[in-house]
Amino acid sequence: RRRKPWSVPGFEIDLIARYGGDEFIAVVPFHDKNDVEKIVAKIIQVLSEVFYIDSHEQFIGASIGISVSPKDSQSCDGLIQKAAIAMDNAKQRGRGKYVYFSESMQDDIREKSSLETDLFRSIERNEISLMYQPQIDLSTGQVSGVEALVRWYNAEKSAIDPEQFISYAEENGFIIQLGKWDMQEALKQCEKWKVEHQIIPRIAINVSARQLHDESFLADVEEIFSNFNINGTTIEFEITENLFLGDDQHTLDLLSNINCMGIELAIDDFGKGYSSLRSLKKLPVQTFKIDKLFVKDIVTDSDSLAIVRAIIALGRELNKEIIVEGVETAEQLDILRGLGCHHAQGYYIGRPGSAQELTKMMNSTSQLNNARTIMSSSIGIK
Ligand code: C2E
Ligand code: CA
Ligand code: CA
Repeated sequence: RRRKPWSVPGFEIDLIARYGGDEFIAVVPFHDKNDVEKIVAKIIQVLSEVFYIDSHEQFIGASIGISVSPKDSQSCDGLIQKAAIAMDNAKQRGRGKYVYFSESMQDDIREKSSLETDLFRSIERNEISLMYQPQIDLSTGQVSGVEALVRWYNAEKSAIDPEQFISYAEENGFIIQLGKWDMQEALKQCEKWKVEHQIIPRIAINVSARQLHDESFLADVEEIFSNFNINGTTIEFEITENLFLGDDQHTLDLLSNINCMGIELAIDDFGKGYSSLRSLKKLPVQTFKIDKLFVKDIVTDSDSLAIVRAIIALGRELNKEIIVEGVETAEQLDILRGLGCHHAQGYYIGRPGSAQELTKMMNSTSQLNNARTIMSSSIGIK
């Protein structure tokens, strides 16, 4: 019932075909780049309109990758492969974008694939380690917990950005193995601290959605936990908000099962996702962790302050513990304590460090005094 999307006046597509799944190929003879852009813009525009199927609204949209013959390749396979690379790039830029293939994209892919190969071997090569970042209780100034953060120093001993390799590990599934290693390592360290008479009240471990959705997740956690004696320390899994989109029963059951194993749950990066208030009420989570994005401008921007104040009020009303991350200045800490936040984490309190560094920090009175001084200058809670 629709017009052909490719019917641009004075211009025809030679061939359009479904290549597979939701991927289509259009072959377009052209003399002038403007012609291609006209047609591509038209396809994007038409597909961005709403479609009705049996009176249901459907949003489709398109991301387009373009390869040009003979510049990019003279073979059919080569052109398709390069258009696919450009399309992936377009998808990453968001919906409704078109991108021409460029050689640098291929370089990025080569670099990514070599990094991924190294990543798969990183555990056996002992290149992975955990750092621990302290969290303090804002009413006492004492260390109330640590967050375990993974680090990867590859063969050249350079540190790879965790956000980058974690996202690769999530894409290629390595996160399952890495996540198990994380847990084992954190629990091993917890036991070690106990032997040294250093009980850390809470250890937070990041768990990504891909791990949680792995069918053997619960059994793996159970097995790992059965090998350690962590009495005296609460283990908390930090899970990002996106997992809670919708409130399907399966996710709720999974989270309840984790709670039943004695493990607490925190919603990480709280405020960055789009949790529905209704689902928040039902969630078996104990802690909201406010993202550093909101803390950054809390001193200068009244909107950021309003958001943080609202999240803290909501959390307290729902009986949740509130941790705020990304605290970099005394001023931010003062404000957050005044707003009734329970715990804080950030460079101002301590950067992520080795287990030994954390032990030193816990033992050093000056660190705690430092924290207490900050506390005493604060505006009171409640
Ligand atoms: P995240 O869970 O939000 O972790 C907090 C990040 O903020 C950490 O970055 C930490 O070093 C950084 N940070 C802490 N305090 C401050 C501060 O005051 N200012 C600023 N600007 N940043 C601060 P990191 O270690 O680079 O980790 C990045 C992300 O990688 C984490 O974000 C988490 O999503 C992921 N990640 C890290 N370790 C693990 C892990 O063991 N497992 C999984 N699944 N994900 C992990
Ligand atoms: Ca986290
Ligand atoms: Ca965060």
